[in-house]
Amino acid sequence: MCGIVGIEDAGGISIQLYYALYALQHRGQESAGISTFDGTSLHKFKGSGLVADVFSPSVLSDLKGTAGIGHVRYPTTGSNLPENIQPLNFQYQNQSISIAHNGNLVNTCELRAEYERSGQIFITTTDTEIIAKILINALSNSGSVEDAVSICMHKLVGSYATIIMIDGVLYGFRDPLGIKPLGIGKTEHGYMLASESVAMDALSAKFIRDVKPGELVRIDAEGVRCMQVAVAGKCAHCIFEYIYFARADSVIDGVLVYDVRRQIGRKLHDEAPVNADSVGALPDSGTAYAIGYAEQSKIPYVESLMKNRYMGRTFIMPTQKEREKAVRIKLNPIPAHLKDKSVVLVDDSIVRGTTSKRIIGLVRDAGAREVHVRVGSPAIKAPCYLGVDFPTREELIAHNRSEEEVRKSITATSLHHISLEALIEAIGFAPDDLCTGCLTGCYPLPIEGEKAKTCNVDFVDGTYQAKLGSFEA
Ligand code: 5GP
Ligand code: MG
Repeated sequence: MCGIVGIEDAGGISIQLYYALYALQHRGQESAGISTFDGTSLHKFKGSGLVADVFSPSVLSDLKGTAGIGHVRYPTTGSNLPENIQPLNFQYQNQSISIAHNGNLVNTCELRAEYERSGQIFITTTDTEIIAKILINALSNSGSVEDAVSICMHKLVGSYATIIMIDGVLYGFRDPLGIKPLGIGKTEHGYMLASESVAMDALSAKFIRDVKPGELVRIDAEGVRCMQVAVAGKCAHCIFEYIYFARADSVIDGVLVYDVRRQIGRKLHDEAPVNADSVGALPDSGTAYAIGYAEQSKIPYVESLMKNRYMGRTFIMPTQKEREKAVRIKLNPIPAHLKDKSVVLVDDSIVRGTTSKRIIGLVRDAGAREVHVRVGSPAIKAPCYLGVDFPTREELIAHNRSEEEVRKSITATSLHHISLEALIEAIGFAPDDLCTGCLTGCYPLPIEGEKAKTCNVDFVDGTYQAKLGSFEA
C-alpha cells in the first residue's frame, strides 16, 4: 500500500508535490520521494521516514521543474532497502524516466526470471522495477508509450496504479480491474494525478474524476488526454480502501469514504444492538463507524480513549514486541468515562488481534464493566496479495477461529463483525465490482494455491479521447 502523485503545472511543483504527499502520508510512512523534470534534467530526492522528515525547504527548492511525481511507501517486510524507495529513476536513450507505483503484482517472480534469463539486471527487489523493465523493453521495440502500456497490461497480473514521467510528460494508468485508486485533478495552471482526492484538496485543486480501470492518461503542458487500453468484464476495487486505508475525507471511485464508514456503523447497530452507557471509537480508524453506531442506537457518543496524535501507526513497528509497546503510549483511557460503565467500542478491523486485546485490557483496567466490541469489517480470514500488508493466514486471529473464539481471545464482553452484505451495501457497488479476497479467500485474479473468480480482459485499439487542453469529466 502506497501513495502516489504526479503534477504538471507551469507554476512550479516541488511544494505542491510535497503537500500532496503530506496529504497521502497515511498510505505509507516508511519512505518518501520526489522526482522533477525541468525541461532538460531530472532532479530527485528520496529518503526514509515521514514526508516532513525527508524534505527540507532547501531540498524542495532544488527540485526544479514544471512536472514531477512523488511517492510515499508503506513498509512491506524484508524489503526495507534504500534502493527500493520510489520513485525509481532510469535513463533510456537520453530520456529521463521516473516511475511510482501503488499495488502489488502476483507474477513478479515469473516476470523477473524471464528478464534475468535474457541477461537483464535489477537494482531493487520491487515489482515496480519490473513494470519499468517491461515499459522500456516495449519502448525499444515500438517506440510508443501507448503500446508499451498496453504490453504492460497484457503481462502484469496484479494491482497497479502507476504514474510515469518521461522527460516531463506524465502518464498514469490503472490496472484493468481498478484495484488501487487513482484520480485526476485540475491544479491552478495544470493537471495532476493522485491516489486519493485529499491530495487534490490539499492543493485547492479540483477533482475531475477517477482514472478508469484499464485507462491510460497522458498529461503534458497542453493538457490531458486519455485512452482506454483494456476493458474488463467487472471491477475489483479494494474493499479495504473503504474499511481502513483511505482517508475518511477522500472520495474514491465516486464514494465518500466517511459516509461508508458511518453507514456501516449504523448497520452494526441494526445487526448487533446492545444496551450500553456510551459508544466510543478506537481512534482514529474507528471514529466514523462509532458515530454511525451512536446515531442509530441513540446511545451517547463519548470519547474514552485519547490518542497521542504525534505518533505513527503502531502497525509500522516491524516486530510484534515493538508493536505491543507502542500501543501503550499511543492511547490513554479516560477512567472517569469508563469506571463501572458498559461501553460499546467500535473499530474498523481486527487483523492480528494484538491491538484489540491490549486496548480492551486498558479499558477494563480503567474500570469498564462491559466492553462490547463492534467491527466495521467482516472477519479477515485470508492474506492480501494485491497490496495490503496482511500477514499469513496463521497470524490472522480470525483464521480458523469462530467469532466466539475471537471474542474470548480479545476478552470482549460481546463481539460482532459487520456482515459482508451490509458492508457492500454501504459502499454501494455491485458485489462483483469489489475485491473481497481478505474476507472471502476468493480473489479477482488467478493466484497460485488460492480460489479465484476471474473475468475476461479485452484489449482495445485505443486512441486518445479528449482533446488537448479541453479535458473535462
Ligand atoms: P489488531 O487488533 O489486529 O492488532 O489491530 C487492529 C487495528 O489495526 C485496527 O484498529 C486497524 O485500524 C488497524 N489496521 C488494520 N489493517 C491495517 C493495516 O493494513 N495497516 C495498519 N497500519 N493498520 C491496520
Ligand atoms: Mg485502528
